[in-house]
Amino acid sequence: MPRTADIQTDPKDVADRIRSGDRRALARALTFVESRRADHRAWAEALLTEIMPDTGGAYRVGLSGVPGVGKSTLIEALGDHVTEAGHRIAVLAVDPSSKRSGGSILGDKTRMETLSRNPAAFIRPSPAGETLGGVARRTRESMLLCEAAGFDIILVETVGVGQSETAVAAMTDIFVLMLLPAGGDELQGMKKGIVELADLILVNKADGDLKDQARRTAADYHGALRLLGKPKHRSEVGVMACSAATRDGVAEIWSRAQSFMDEAKDAGALTQRRAEQAKSWLWEEASAALIDALRADDAVNGIVQDVEDAVTTGTLPASVGAKRLVDALLRR
Ligand code: GDP
Repeated sequence: MPRTADIQTDPKDVADRIRSGDRRALARALTFVESRRADHRAWAEALLTEIMPDTGGAYRVGLSGVPGVGKSTLIEALGDHVTEAGHRIAVLAVDPSSKRSGGSILGDKTRMETLSRNPAAFIRPSPAGETLGGVARRTRESMLLCEAAGFDIILVETVGVGQSETAVAAMTDIFVLMLLPAGGDELQGMKKGIVELADLILVNKADGDLKDQARRTAADYHGALRLLGKPKHRSEVGVMACSAATRDGVAEIWSRAQSFMDEAKDAGALTQRRAEQAKSWLWEEASAALIDALRADDAVNGIVQDVEDAVTTGTLPASVGAKRLVDALLRR
């Protein structure tokens, strides 16, 4: 819980502490970003405005895969690798299931034990949120704070459920999808959508008995993706087999990811990708802000019950009902 005393601190001072690498200041600021209370939000927004010039300098990496595919094992391995190379990595999670399950899978303390003790790493479990949209909005802001704190790699992790991959791909520079060696001829994730989002596909657990199978799966994906053709505005999707457990391929994963982002930067594609992301973020925030304003407005609240009843009983189309609410707000 954010502490009331913190809100009396000038956001400018907190911004200075975050820039100087004060991890406690960063951790506390994140609790404000995640809070839904209006006064906390206002304070967080003042802080975010303050630190905006210090953001944008990190490699933003998205990582997704079903539970058990080896995400946390890979993050540990990758975290060691990049911090040994002198980077500082922050790991954030978008986990819309955390609230329902009563405890975040991604926030489980036993995960990433080694990395959590690494002074060049910062791990933040997923904030509890009611909606994926809410969680994703806060994760974006957390990413900015971590960048201001000097982390030059931000890894945003999500479990492969629902729309969370889309949300993570929409806030990162590269989206990495982890898959398991396929048993049969069914290629997982080929369902339109997820694979399309991927910039790099990793077939994990390429070790022991699964090694050959993982390599075959990687080759199958490679072939299937070639058939699908090159996605618009994107470099070709890379596919490789790896073993997070033995760390076989981990150095190559990072060098591929880094080249992908560096090439995109040189070609101007990164700037374009981030600009598009920022624009859609703006409109998401605008709709969320509008909904908040509707819910807080007296005139709207005066008619909301009638409008809801009319819509639920099927006498009023939802689109017309929505316009009535907005009209009530605008005629204040
Ligand atoms: P997550 O749920 O995606 O974070 O998956 P975990 O990293 O927790 O891994 C799930 C299980 O798979 C654990 O028992 C890991 O030890 C195991 N695992 C992870 N990566 C590998 C790998 O590369 N090879 C093998 N054989 N097992 C792995």
